[in-house]
Amino acid sequence: MTPALPSTEPIDADTGERALAWLHTARFLTTASKLSELPVGELPEIAFVGRSNAGKSSAINALTGQKRLAFASKTPGRTQHINLFEVGPKDAPNALLADLPGYGYAAVERTAKVRWQEVMASYLEVRRNLEAIVLLVDSRLGITPNDAILLDFVRPRVSSGSVKLLVLLTKVDKLNKSELRSALTSTRTSLSGMGTPEAEILLAPFSATQKVGLHDAAVAIEAWRAPPRGA
Ligand code: GDP
Repeated sequence: MTPALPSTEPIDADTGERALAWLHTARFLTTASKLSELPVGELPEIAFVGRSNAGKSSAINALTGQKRLAFASKTPGRTQHINLFEVGPKDAPNALLADLPGYGYAAVERTAKVRWQEVMASYLEVRRNLEAIVLLVDSRLGITPNDAILLDFVRPRVSSGSVKLLVLLTKVDKLNKSELRSALTSTRTSLSGMGTPEAEILLAPFSATQKVGLHDAAVAIEAWRAPPRGA
């Protein structure tokens, strides 16, 4: 069962704006070419993953209200890096966003693909503070074979509920209503069997350019941050 956002109880605009304001505090923390270089800590980490060109950078930039935050990952030589952003008050950050390397077109070089699989597999399987995954899926393509490989890596942790999953169907401004309906249905079908009923798999339409789904995505992501100190 994969509940779709928006839920039957629409998110009110204030709640959405508050969640976005929180995401707007995102700032660059560090970049790492391998897992061992990532800082180890307790802050819940929310990883953004997706096929190259799925709209991941645009989504991160739209959600954080910053034009170029995620484009560091597009710098030549940096495309295979994991970029971390800190979110929350400067003196008491309460979450990290991780921008993971985009994965390839079919023609991607074999060695690059193998390396990507190693980095992703180890990150997704062992990163201890990984709280949730935001998977960006181009609404015109649906779940691709590489997305399925990635979902395989995280299936055990998603199934047990220890890692949450939000699937954003991107670029929905390019679809009409019936195309959007069928994209949602077919993506939901692909995702079914991904987890136990307890597992939290959310699916939501998104457009960075037309600002569709920003509130829903921000509210879902904010729910994964660390509770305030002392709570
Ligand atoms: P990434 O490789 O996954 O980081 O993808 P990008 O964010 O760089 O986007 C890939 C391409 O899709 C770019 O040409 C973007 O301008 C375009 N794009 C991204 N988001 C949207 C969207 O919401 N609507 C439309 N129409 N195009 C988008």
